[in-house]
Amino acid sequence: MSIYLDHNATTPLAPEAARAMEPFGRDRFANPSGLYPEAVAARRAVSEARERLAACLGCRAEEVLFNGGATEGLNHALLATALARDGGHLVAGGVEHAAVRRPLEWLARRGFQVTFVRPQRTGLVTAEAVAAACRPETFLVALQAANNELGTVQPVAEVGTVARRCGALFLVDAVQALGKLPLDMPTSGADLLAVSAHKVGGPKGVGALVVRTGVELPAWLHGGGQEAGRRAGTENVAGAVGFAAAAEVAVANRETWHRRWTALRPELLELTRILADCRLNGHETLTLPNTVSLAFRGIDAVELTVRLGERGVCVSPGAACCAGERSEILAAIGLDEPAIAGTVRFSMGPDTALTELQRARSAVVEVCRALRRG
Ligand code: PLP
Repeated sequence: MSIYLDHNATTPLAPEAARAMEPFGRDRFANPSGLYPEAVAARRAVSEARERLAACLGCRAEEVLFNGGATEGLNHALLATALARDGGHLVAGGVEHAAVRRPLEWLARRGFQVTFVRPQRTGLVTAEAVAAACRPETFLVALQAANNELGTVQPVAEVGTVARRCGALFLVDAVQALGKLPLDMPTSGADLLAVSAHKVGGPKGVGALVVRTGVELPAWLHGGGQEAGRRAGTENVAGAVGFAAAAEVAVANRETWHRRWTALRPELLELTRILADCRLNGHETLTLPNTVSLAFRGIDAVELTVRLGERGVCVSPGAACCAGERSEILAAIGLDEPAIAGTVRFSMGPDTALTELQRARSAVVEVCRALRRG
């Protein structure tokens, strides 16, 4: 069995989610839009999933819009909001995921003004820096709750206050926060909040965008009237059911997992003491407890990752979706080239064991020493 330390990339399907989804892959296949009893049951399954996910996020069921994942939700929130206007200004943190950066760059090419707020060396984007970037014409502020590569946790509630004061909508990318941080819709101050099932033990290709009551969000996918007419397409019934089941497990266990990860984290940080030229990227304390991003200067992180994979240790150089490419996040926090090229991210899951971390650590030490000798 390999040692899986890449939970920020994706997570194994939780048994609760697999069990909940199973009937919908077989006999419970009816289209929720139908009128016969099987279809009514499918519709009920989606609306129950919506209620259960809403309870996990502290919002109303009718505020939850199921979709195909957080990339879709973030694109929907940014592009549909912007394209309903003639122009204006958007503000985002300087270490946002590509699912926020790319649509903003697309908008900038079409004449919108976009400011990426410079992060601190740890990846922290302060409320003061966001406030300084806001202007009278700012109509949207986007901030991730926690960074997927660094683990750095952002001051979401404070930035929400800044956005409100500025009269802008506040979009929160809560993908890495769900099940890891005590974040919900009311405390975040979000008008729009994106989450993804596969980061919390749910299936891939399912997510949700929470749209606060009163926020006008134009439709994204046009077609049938599903998801209150804002996201057309036959519902992914199994996906919604699996997401709700997984989210419930993650939220119910959040504090227990948080304590476990906090206790285990030093096992990975120990590498900074064992190996010369190994440094922590990200924040010492304002961090996801399951995430450790380390820069191994003089080491090629892609080679290190591949060699670790051959030894059954699964980690990522930077983020999984950008494997092999230079990390824009690490560049944004001001790391120099050797640190960027040598950065590996370790991200633990609920079942990560102490012995696995110790074995992974030994493997890292051996491979790094071999690569430095070679
Ligand atoms: N935002 C963050 C912070 C992420 O980590 C990810 C996934 O890596 C996404 C957005 C995109 O999520 P999805 O895979 O559901 O499209």
